[in-house]
Amino acid sequence: MARPNRFTNVLRVGPVQVGTHHDGRGRTKHTAACTAPGCNFSADYLDRSAAELAARTHRCNP
Ligand SMILES: [Zn+2]
Repeated sequence: MARPNRFTNVLRVGPVQVGTHHDGRGRTKHTAACTAPGCNFSADYLDRSAAELAARTHRCNP
């Protein structure tokens, strides 16, 4: 999985990391990415609360 390296405001919820970053075009993105081995969950969200909600509700390998 590609790991964005310019995260700010990093929050950890269990194995899931939520970070805010800027793409190269002046837009802000919010990404939730699971760091658990074997879990490839990673998604971008338009707002921070959506990313945090996804992190809180994420379950590895259901
Ligand atoms: Zn996971």
